Amino acid sequence: MPPEPSAEPLDLSATLVPGAPAATGNVTIKLGDDHIPIRVTVPVEPTTLEPLLPIFQGFLGAMVDRAVGQAAAAGLSVSCRAGCGACCRQAVPIAPSEARDVAAHVAAMPDARRTQVQARFAAARQALAAAGIGDRAATFDAATMEDRLAFGMAYFRAGVACPFLEDESCSIHPVRPLACREYLVTSPAENCRWPTMDNVRPVRLGGSLGQALIATEAVMAGHGRLLLVDALDWAAANPAPPPVHNGPSLVKGVFDVLAKLSG
Ligand code: SF4
Repeated sequence: MPPEPSAEPLDLSATLVPGAPAATGNVTIKLGDDHIPIRVTVPVEPTTLEPLLPIFQGFLGAMVDRAVGQAAAAGLSVSCRAGCGACCRQAVPIAPSEARDVAAHVAAMPDARRTQVQARFAAARQALAAAGIGDRAATFDAATMEDRLAFGMAYFRAGVACPFLEDESCSIHPVRPLACREYLVTSPAENCRWPTMDNVRPVRLGGSLGQALIATEAVMAGHGRLLLVDALDWAAANPAPPPVHNGPSLVKGVFDVLAKLSG
């Protein structure tokens, strides 16, 4: 259920550099007809979006809780469980900041682990190329929804697992992209092995924070939607650090786009 107007604000913090000055402020986020109070802590110094991702991830967690509560009130329960990675063979759209975050996470892994994950990324990209969907950037950003859906189905049919999927569970669960957090279903889990528009019933969150982040970055930095499977290559090909901005403005910008997307 949406929080009551008098509810305590949800506390969300960016990743802060120890000792660096930070500021905390209250904001109300509009989500459909609801107004959700949050208290955010961000760096005082200008920042990129990457340290702010925990704020969006935390708010999305609250969106999910709210939507799952609404589904439960309607007699529906979420069928997603650890160990069911059927949805982790889909094309996962991510923002450039998420690509950098994923790449940094992989770069920080111990040598043997990093080599293993990098090899999985390379194998996944090769398998997609072999399946005829090597030119993903152009196809995924196709102009029409029909073309995008066709691409999504072709990607799924290729059966290429996310490089982070291990034993059908996410091996980077705490830092997984927003799009991964937004995908929940109340239809039978086995239907996700061959999803169609008719046999999968997604939980409606009332807006997509992942899409809001992508849209914000497309305007701000000229790089929009990427695919998770391309994250490491994209980050390596774009090593220049992104420009820094005022932290509160960045947070507000993304939530303003979410408000527009949620109607
Ligand atoms: S990052 Fe995790 S949740 Fe997302 S597709 Fe990969 S394995 Fe699945």
